[in-house]
Amino acid sequence: MQIVTKKAIRYGIIILIFILLGLSYIAFHYFQGIPVLNYHQINNKDHNTLTLSSTEFEAQINYLYQEGYTGISPDQLADYLQSGKKLPPKPILITLDDGYKDNYQVAYPILQKYHFTATIFVITDFVNNYGKYLTWNQIREMSDNGVSFEAHTLSHISLPKASDEEIRNQLVKSKEAIEWRLGKKVDYLAYPGGEYDQRVIGLAKEAGYRAAFTVNFGRDRINSTLYTLNRIPIFGGQSHTFFRFWLRLNFTQTINALQNLKAYLLKEGNTSIAGLIYIP
Ligand SMILES: [Zn+2]
Repeated sequence: MQIVTKKAIRYGIIILIFILLGLSYIAFHYFQGIPVLNYHQINNKDHNTLTLSSTEFEAQINYLYQEGYTGISPDQLADYLQSGKKLPPKPILITLDDGYKDNYQVAYPILQKYHFTATIFVITDFVNNYGKYLTWNQIREMSDNGVSFEAHTLSHISLPKASDEEIRNQLVKSKEAIEWRLGKKVDYLAYPGGEYDQRVIGLAKEAGYRAAFTVNFGRDRINSTLYTLNRIPIFGGQSHTFFRFWLRLNFTQTINALQNLKAYLLKEGNTSIAGLIYIP
C-alpha cells in the first residue's frame, strides 16, 4: 500500500513538473518581468561560489548581446516598475555586488566590448582599503563611462541583526560617501547577503532609497514591491556552467515554482520527494 502511494506521489510530482513547465512557458511569454542578473567576482584566480571565470562571464555577456538584450540602469527599472515608463527591447539589468577590483580589471572591459552597462553595489568602507576591492579612481573612471554605483552599506553587516542606529549609520553614510565622491545621486541599495526584514525596509525608506535589491530568485514586475526586488543570482552553484545561467535566465518562473514546491515539501516533511527536485 505504502509503495503504491509513494509511486503515485512520484508520478504526481512528475506530472506537476510538466504542468509547471507548460504554465511557465506561457508566463514567460506574457508576464515575463524584467531580469536583474547578480554577479560578484569575475576572475581566474578565485575558485569559490561567488566567482566566475573571465571566459564564462564573457560567454554569458556575449549571449545577451547575440540575443539582442539591452542593458538598463536601476533608474530605468524603477521608472518602469513605478509608472510603466517604456523600456528598450529585451531590457536587462546587470548587477555586481561588493565592488571587487576584478570588476574593473576583468568585467568592465568585457561589458564595454559588448556595449553593456552595469550597476555595482559597493561596500564603501572597503573601497581604497583592501587589495581585493575597487579604488575610488577606478570607480570614478567607470562611473564616467556609464556604470552606475549604488550602496551595499559601509561594511557589509547583517542588517536584520543590527540596531536601528547602526542600520541608519550603514545606510546613510554609504549613500553619502558615493554621492560625495561621484557627485551623483545614489538611490538604490542591495541588502548585504540579501538579508532584510520589515524594520530594515522601513529604515531604507527613511534613509532616502528609492528601491532595494535582494538575492531572492525571480524577475521584477510592475506590481513588485520596490524594497524587495528580485534578482537572478549567477552564483552559489557548485560550478557556474553556461547551461545553468541559460536556464536561470530563460526559465526563471519554472525554477521559481520548483523552488517553492521543494520548500513546501520540505516543510511538510517529504524530504525524499523534495530530494528528487533538482534546482539548477
Ligand atoms: Zn554583498
